[in-house]
Amino acid sequence: MQSAVCPGSFDPLHNGHVEIIARASNLFDEVIVAVSPNMHKRPMFSVEERMEMVQETFAYVRGVTVRPLGEGLLAEFCKAHGANAVVKGLRDAKDLSYETPMATMNRHLSGLETIYLPADGRYTHLSSTLIKEVHSLGGDVSEHVPRAAQRRLAERRHEA
Ligand code: ADP
Repeated sequence: MQSAVCPGSFDPLHNGHVEIIARASNLFDEVIVAVSPNMHKRPMFSVEERMEMVQETFAYVRGVTVRPLGEGLLAEFCKAHGANAVVKGLRDAKDLSYETPMATMNRHLSGLETIYLPADGRYTHLSSTLIKEVHSLGGDVSEHVPRAAQRRLAERRHEA
């Protein structure tokens, strides 16, 4: 069985993430979505909420599971879960130059390979940061995020 990990903060999950996870699930028997704590940025949603968004969105897709990434090395997480590849979506050349040193380091650490999937043109402008910014200024981001994220974003606005 071939397993891959799709890591990220998913704060919140958006349609660019959903598309990459779905495409990864066509290539691998199992895709583990690993939700990172987002240590460098103050997250809008807890790891549990972000995991629920992934769970709800992929509830009917075979082979997609979700786990917390924790604070350790991605290479160790992959080894512990029997995954031999990481799948990353690339929006542009900036993503490529950001990801490549980490991909090379992971290969040197444990032979872990990284597979890049080019982002679909419909989603190259999407980032969780932009989604949060537009939402916080009162903009409607619902067409860019799955239902599970739409609901939680609306609840946040309601609470604010
Ligand atoms: P961001 O805040 O940039 O959305 P994440 O850490 O949540 O970052 O993203 C996780 C992974 O999802 C990224 O490493 C990248 O592989 C992929 N990704 C992010 N945005 C997109 C997008 N718009 N299209 C395709 N893949 C994306």
